Amino acid sequence: MHCVLCEARIPSISFLCQACSEVLPANTNACRTCALPLQTNTICGTCLQHPSPFGLCFAPYHYAFPVDVLIKAIKFSQRLVYAELVARLMHQQIVRLQTDLPECLIPIPLHWKRLFNRGYNQAVELARPLAECLGIPLLHDAAIRTRKTIPQASLAAKARRRNVRRTFRLKQPIRYQHVALVDDVMTTGHTARELAVLLRSEGVERVDVWVAARAYR
Ligand SMILES: [Zn+2]
Ligand SMILES: [Zn+2]
Repeated sequence: MHCVLCEARIPSISFLCQACSEVLPANTNACRTCALPLQTNTICGTCLQHPSPFGLCFAPYHYAFPVDVLIKAIKFSQRLVYAELVARLMHQQIVRLQTDLPECLIPIPLHWKRLFNRGYNQAVELARPLAECLGIPLLHDAAIRTRKTIPQASLAAKARRRNVRRTFRLKQPIRYQHVALVDDVMTTGHTARELAVLLRSEGVERVDVWVAARAYR
């Protein structure tokens, strides 16, 4: 077997050679509820002022080389074998988290038009192996995305609540108290936040979010 990044020969159980594993852009110190870099693993000033709807925001990598290359290959070049690699990398870090694991995983849905064009949802491709490794259920059609998101910041409070309700719709009641949303990258976090707010308004007590990488400006 060969390393997927540099083609060096490696034992068949891994995807990456030692050298490539060591240069992955780890997001080691980050805010617990928005995953932005922070000196310590506590909660950042912004999240203290405006509490995040997430119990935990887990993003083990920065959206930087070579993780960005892997994620783009999953999304745009149908390299789904990379999804297995990225899920495995996420799993290695998740088992080290000092927190309760969720009762189920919910991949963040794509709008149907995008799903139709791409043929698959990269969030499902990441969540499926994670759910298998962790032995927890995957609810891949719990929610549907009814339209593309309007940035929340441009809306007044009332309109924001309407916007959330219109962006996602739950197809079934969620019987779990603690769930984790799964996606490939978090940039502004608006989309995941909206789904988290919806789930919490439907009675889910704790919503975590797990993304492979955190991007920021
Ligand atoms: Zn390598
Ligand atoms: Zn924060």
